[in-house]
Amino acid sequence: MVSIRTALLLFCFILISQLFSCSSDGEKVFRKSRILMDTLVTINVVANSELKAEKAIDAAFDEIKRLEGLISFWSEDSEIAEINRKAGISWVKVSPMTLDLIEKALFVSKETDGAFDPTVGPLMRLWDFKKQIIPDQKVIREKTGLVDYRAMIVDRANSRVFLKKKGMSFDTGGIAKGYAADLAVSVLKREGIRSGLVSVAGDIKAFGKKPDGRPWRVGIRNPRSSQGHLEKETQETRQGDDRDILTVVELEDMAISTSGDYERFFIKDGKRYHHIMDPRTGYPATGCQSVTVIARDGVFTDGFSTGIFVLGPEKGLRLLERSGFEGLIIDSEGKAHMTKGFKRLETRKERS
Ligand code: ADP
Ligand code: MG
Repeated sequence: MVSIRTALLLFCFILISQLFSCSSDGEKVFRKSRILMDTLVTINVVANSELKAEKAIDAAFDEIKRLEGLISFWSEDSEIAEINRKAGISWVKVSPMTLDLIEKALFVSKETDGAFDPTVGPLMRLWDFKKQIIPDQKVIREKTGLVDYRAMIVDRANSRVFLKKKGMSFDTGGIAKGYAADLAVSVLKREGIRSGLVSVAGDIKAFGKKPDGRPWRVGIRNPRSSQGHLEKETQETRQGDDRDILTVVELEDMAISTSGDYERFFIKDGKRYHHIMDPRTGYPATGCQSVTVIARDGVFTDGFSTGIFVLGPEKGLRLLERSGFEGLIIDSEGKAHMTKGFKRLETRKERS
């Protein structure tokens, strides 16, 4: 299960870092990957010793594992699962990290006017993208009535939260990976690393520069280029074939996330059903094929990319400009819309 999802997720971004290029003071890029949060996490760091690199990377992995234990939507014993079990019943005391994630998620909900709504949990449980079953319309309508981020209350002073209605549930899937990338970068910096690139599937955060003095480069996937050849094409693109890359951006101390309708989906009677829900209709959002957001924090690039996918290209672009974020939106017709500052981050594909 993980391997197929991982293969799909690898598509989102293709790293174009020059592994093991050496700087004048002997610094190199060290890379390690692990499956965490049900996805592939890859950490690259620049260091002058393998020991130092490995220690820092392992500490970052441990922190992501800790986060996963607290906020997983699907596991029975996370704090999020407890909040969901007690929906409509009682407050639940949570750790500072869970509280922080929830507050940030609710901030994104407000900013996107509810297009990003982490209380989509009841809807997400209805869909099974592997079995390709479209849930009953009546059930969808009923569950949509439970989706409302304003019915999640936070008592910060006492570090506790409450979902007001029975049956509500909070799903961290739209924001957790970006948050994990932020956390990993904080740990790496604490371990004395000055440059690195963390990717939690399609949510990536870069800091510092590569040993050659250049910024980290990240490729943004063309959402429609390679259906039907996922495994093979993933291999090829990662080895430098860039048929699937729409464009490449250079990032310094920035995060990037892409939400796409190609991550988890099926097509039935010519219609695409995927994993980003419009909280107003209860059905997959239809305005975009993919949304890429670039900003300082991974938690916001992740949350906003999901929310803007729901908002659609016009409102989405306005929100990006207003927030001071950069982004690229591919609308449902395949047309690209980008913020004014996006071009400045783009670089030519053929440079290594
Ligand atoms: P991915 O997980 O593929 O990187 P996203 O970051 O866009 O993609 O998150 C999609 C996930 O977010 C879904 O699997 C679901 O858990 C959750 N989700 C779906 N629709 C919404 C929404 N409108 N608001 C918030 N979260 C959502
Ligand atoms: Mg997201």
